[in-house]
Amino acid sequence: MNLGVAMFIGNKLGKFHDMEMDALRCSWGAPLRMRVGVDVNLPLKQAYKIRTTNGEEHIVTFTYVHLPNLCYLCGHLGHIAKYCELRFHDDFVDPVVRPIPE
Ligand SMILES: [Zn+2]
Repeated sequence: MNLGVAMFIGNKLGKFHDMEMDALRCSWGAPLRMRVGVDVNLPLKQAYKIRTTNGEEHIVTFTYVHLPNLCYLCGHLGHIAKYCELRFHDDFVDPVVRPIPE
């Protein structure tokens, strides 16, 4: 992982601000903690598929800290997944099998 890749990932999530620099020594799959500005009126992204220059695909998953009442089903703030209205829609798809956006 290098700073350019970290900034690329952070900017896919929102607007990259900074990150823990110790994370630059980590490899794919290791947690990376960064500060990113996001529009909380939009659903927060939970995953992103990234393709490396040699064609390998990796899925980057996002975990948010210090955000109580974040729904990991719809990505909105204000409720948790247990109470998400998406559960009551006929076309509800379990997030485990939902396709990862590119
Ligand atoms: Zn929800």
